[in-house]
Amino acid sequence: MLAAVIAPLRRVAAALPEGRGLGPEAWMRRHRVILGVLWLHVLGLPLFGLSRGYSFGHCLTDAAPVALLALAALQPRGGQVLRSVLAALGLMTSSAVLVHLSGGVMEAHFHFFVMIALLSAYRDWVPFLFALAFVVVEHGVIGVIDPRSVHDEIDEVLHPWRWALIHGGFVLAAAAANVYAWTTSEEDHRRAVAESRRSEETFRALFECSPQPMWVYEVRTLAFLAVNEAAITHYGYSRDEFLAMSILDIRPAEDAGRVRERVRLGDSGASGVWEHRVRDGRSIHVEISSEHLAFHGRDAKLIVAHDITERLALEGELHHRAFHDALSGLANRDLFHDRLGHALARLSRQGQPLAVLTLDLDDFKAINDSRGHHTGDQVLREVARRLEDAVRPGDTVARMGGDEFALLLEEVDVVAAEAIAARITAAMQRPILLHDEEMFVTTSGGLSVCSGWGCSEHELLRHADIALYAAKAAGKGVIETFTPAMRESGDLHRIEVAARLRQALVRGELFLEYQPVIRLSTGGVRGVEALVRWRDPERGVVSPAEFIPVAEDTGLIVPLGEWVLAEACRQVRVWEAGGAVGGGERLALSVNISPRQLREPDFVAVVARVLDATGFDPAQLVLELTESAVLDGFARCVESLEQLRALGIRIAIDDFGSGYSSLGYLRDLPLDTVKIDRRFIAGIGEDAAGRELTLAIVRLVDTLGLPTIAEGMETAGELDYVRALGIDFAQGYFLSRPLSAPAMAQFLAGSRVAELMEYAAAS
Ligand code: C2E
Ligand code: MG
Ligand code: MG
Repeated sequence: MLAAVIAPLRRVAAALPEGRGLGPEAWMRRHRVILGVLWLHVLGLPLFGLSRGYSFGHCLTDAAPVALLALAALQPRGGQVLRSVLAALGLMTSSAVLVHLSGGVMEAHFHFFVMIALLSAYRDWVPFLFALAFVVVEHGVIGVIDPRSVHDEIDEVLHPWRWALIHGGFVLAAAAANVYAWTTSEEDHRRAVAESRRSEETFRALFECSPQPMWVYEVRTLAFLAVNEAAITHYGYSRDEFLAMSILDIRPAEDAGRVRERVRLGDSGASGVWEHRVRDGRSIHVEISSEHLAFHGRDAKLIVAHDITERLALEGELHHRAFHDALSGLANRDLFHDRLGHALARLSRQGQPLAVLTLDLDDFKAINDSRGHHTGDQVLREVARRLEDAVRPGDTVARMGGDEFALLLEEVDVVAAEAIAARITAAMQRPILLHDEEMFVTTSGGLSVCSGWGCSEHELLRHADIALYAAKAAGKGVIETFTPAMRESGDLHRIEVAARLRQALVRGELFLEYQPVIRLSTGGVRGVEALVRWRDPERGVVSPAEFIPVAEDTGLIVPLGEWVLAEACRQVRVWEAGGAVGGGERLALSVNISPRQLREPDFVAVVARVLDATGFDPAQLVLELTESAVLDGFARCVESLEQLRALGIRIAIDDFGSGYSSLGYLRDLPLDTVKIDRRFIAGIGEDAAGRELTLAIVRLVDTLGLPTIAEGMETAGELDYVRALGIDFAQGYFLSRPLSAPAMAQFLAGSRVAELMEYAAAS
């Protein structure tokens, strides 16, 4: 009998498409649940029949077709569609039997809909089709033969086929609703899968093609789970070697304990700068950024490594150069101030005294002039060596510039400091032997001692300077200790300079010189830099290096800077109007700006006003700032620079490499040009390490896409070297010294430019 039921169905089912979207395993799981429901009905229906007062035999007969269909649906040979159809018919038969045993009550018909809902588990419309056919045929045929088995309403009993079709209609609707629900959810699922596949492919492509080393490691074990090509090339391990290693294998051995401890505490933080070992044993420094992710079900981290070894070495070298004097190897002015600041901070906590000693060689200029710079340099080196020998290991000896030295003596009172001073005086009295010739150099010094709290850096240095003036006045070759009685004269000196400078501004004693910036590839003048000078009626022309610091201290730099800007803009307009410059590119004008000016809240407004008043094109203006100017109050400074650039003005970093030398800031600043400090150009031909460093700096600036200007070119050799480095803009005595305005006008029109152009064409 089973075969009789199955055979025709199998033929129909064979002609139908296979079940939608379900794999054999998923289908089997669902089929088992539905069979379970069928078997529950095989048990439950007779019990229900008995409770309704039917005989045991009647109940068993009613449940038999359900059992037969359940058995048929169990047959593994049937194929998915046929077995689903058999199960569907079984479920529908259960509903029909339930309706029959309940005496055709309306509520029992709900059972059909529950079973229809259950059928949607197959995700296939074929079982629905059979269920629908079953409902119509069963309601119609049984409704005719035994109406009370199907309905309890009079109209339904009278019109069994009409009601069979109505019930069929509802079953059809329920089936349609189910089909819609599963197809839309399936569609959503398919989209989600496609989306996740696409993003996985994108990730894979980015991962593999990234020029930066990248890897994924498991957080718990630190084992590598995946590495990209760049990591393989950079670290020298093959992919297989990598996948057999953990993060610990690329970290220095001494870090292992610390790393393990962190993992144990659940801290897998990877971002930051780390030291790594590559295969050939070299140590590199990498900046790491990391991202948590689940990788094949494991808690993992994705790492991007950026090798900054070269940058750190360059920074270290620059840092050393920034804080040391190249000639003597001693600390320089900046390092001295830094150490003094720290020492004073310690002093305010611990109350130990300290002393500052400033020294100045007597008549050093005479040695330089009579024996040449080379001898002068040797003398300075010898003096530096003697000073270092005279102090204790923890003390700081600095060359502040020229023939000026300063010493920081910690934990000394007046007596001990004077003893050291006496040792220095004695050391300096010994003749200096150079080229079999004895030379005598005497040194004057000023000593200032802070014996407790409340000393400021500024005050200590000023007192030492005052004592130094006193020593010079007293006849040279001695070191004087500061006394309050000396104060008057020292303060007066500074106040006097400031007052005279103020007057100078009013009386028109300030004037500008201009130094051309040459484009080396053509020999043409790209622009001019305005440099301020002071014609002091008493002392003659004073260098800005001398009076700009006083102007800064007193705030005079603000009106002075504004005057320089206005005067320079006016002058360039005059040249342009007079035809001194013309054709091609318009002349760029560089103006130096002090940190103090940049900090003024209305600085941008002042610049805009000057441009407006002089009718100067902002696109021609370049403002030169030093590193220290932009690094004090970085955020506010960036804002001002951005406002200036919005006006069309360009920004240059002046004396690059001479200051703080943190290279990171270059990237973060809105800049247009970098001027490499003179000392990287000076004597470039002689010193291999210096050449290397200069090359590294030029490359670095190049990667930022900024043009470089080489400052302070003094010889043809330096010029050739600068060109070989690929630097196209230069400034320096070799090209032209700073010139007065009329001389500059001649230069612009004159033979020197033609000569430079010829030189450029020839080489
Ligand atoms: P800077 O802006 O770096 O200017 C370049 C300095 O190098 C100038 O010194 C220039 O005369 C000098 N120089 C140019 N070529 C050579 C060379 O081949 N060899 C050597 N040894 N030196 C060369 P100057 O005029 O004495 O100015 C010194 C500094 O004073 C300037 O350095 C700048 O920082 C500051 N300064 C000058 N004018 C102004 C100004 O108007 N405002 C402000 N705030 N600072 C100014
Ligand atoms: Mg400058
Ligand atoms: Mg400069």
